[in-house]
Amino acid sequence: MFTAQKQHDTKELFNVFIDDVVSKFKEHQDKFANFISQKFYCKEGHHPAEKKESQLFLIIPKNYLAEIDTYVKRNQNFNNENQIWCETCVKMTDMQLKVESVEYPLNLTIYVPGNGSIGKLDHQIKLNNDNYRLYAVICHAGSNLFGHYWAHLLKDGKWIGCNDNIVRESPPNLSNCYMLFYSKN
Ligand SMILES: [Zn+2]
Repeated sequence: MFTAQKQHDTKELFNVFIDDVVSKFKEHQDKFANFISQKFYCKEGHHPAEKKESQLFLIIPKNYLAEIDTYVKRNQNFNNENQIWCETCVKMTDMQLKVESVEYPLNLTIYVPGNGSIGKLDHQIKLNNDNYRLYAVICHAGSNLFGHYWAHLLKDGKWIGCNDNIVRESPPNLSNCYMLFYSKN
């Protein structure tokens, strides 16, 4: 579509570029998205609504980094002002949201609000009987008000740190992880 020595519109180029990025991403989306299937149950056991969600990353509070699977599969209660309509009971009622199943992707991304800590560089987690190995980390340096993000990637057995234009071998600061990237073994 674009050829040398010919004038093209910038907007056209931008459209083509974005379309390509989006379609390439869609091709690979299922390698990154996790699918969580949940059902609402009222106290009488009716389950009026099923909720299926696909997310590109899991949000895991820092205190649960050692038990991600348990945290993701936890049930949530909707009581009092958070009651939900049950069509069988025909009223607003307490509901429990139960996780029926979770499918984890090939490449799992975890966001840790407020930054968290993992113990070691060869960190592994077990999800649905699969082992996931850490291959990249985004760390935060500084305080809540200001600071800087670094990205670290495991390449050919070495941890490479990317700090703006400085790219060199350096391990991540595991006590201040903002995003964690794991791949299935
Ligand atoms: Zn009901």
